[in-house]
Amino acid sequence: MTSLNTADAQSAEQMLKSVGAWLTGHFLFTSGLHGSDYIQCQRILQYPRYGLILAQQLVDQLIQLDLVPDAVVGPALGAIHWELLVAAALDKTLPERPPVKAIFAERVTDDSGDQNAFAIRRGLELAAGEKVLVVEDVTTTGASARKVVDLVRRSGAQPIGVGAIVDRSGSTIDFGIPFVKLLTLNLPAYKESECPMCQSGTKPVKPGSSKG
Ligand SMILES: [Zn+2]
Repeated sequence: MTSLNTADAQSAEQMLKSVGAWLTGHFLFTSGLHGSDYIQCQRILQYPRYGLILAQQLVDQLIQLDLVPDAVVGPALGAIHWELLVAAALDKTLPERPPVKAIFAERVTDDSGDQNAFAIRRGLELAAGEKVLVVEDVTTTGASARKVVDLVRRSGAQPIGVGAIVDRSGSTIDFGIPFVKLLTLNLPAYKESECPMCQSGTKPVKPGSSKG
């Protein structure tokens, strides 16, 4: 593993590439589409030292925009660690404020049968009117983050923004609240029938099972 010189300011892109979080190959995404780039943020978040640098970059942007939350909530599993790191960076930057909560929302099946719904469990809860930043590691369609924004709103708390490490939608996602991200990418994704990598004869791998 390449070690990063954390004394140097690093862009999110440099950091992701340095730790091997930015994978290139031929991937089959959860959406069923194929693509040549996959960002596995847990490869950087496994090192809190580096994750905190990214979290601090997000917090600096949030403060500039006057978006200071009381709680940070992210959808499991992708946002696990990231929500904690962002809350820790907020606490470090604004020590005079009350401590910031970090909560992951868990995937559940809701009453309507939606198997990809989210809930806050484990005895944790948001207070009415609490300002909440929803975080995600990588947004592709933003569907998970949007569900968590709705969950926060239904709980009576106030979603004030969404914060991601990477927005790979090319800035096409509209959450209806400010969306702050460290890196915006517009990476092509293909239907299998139109995938140039399939046409060249290689087989796609599911990123989670990739050891590359
Ligand atoms: Zn393909």
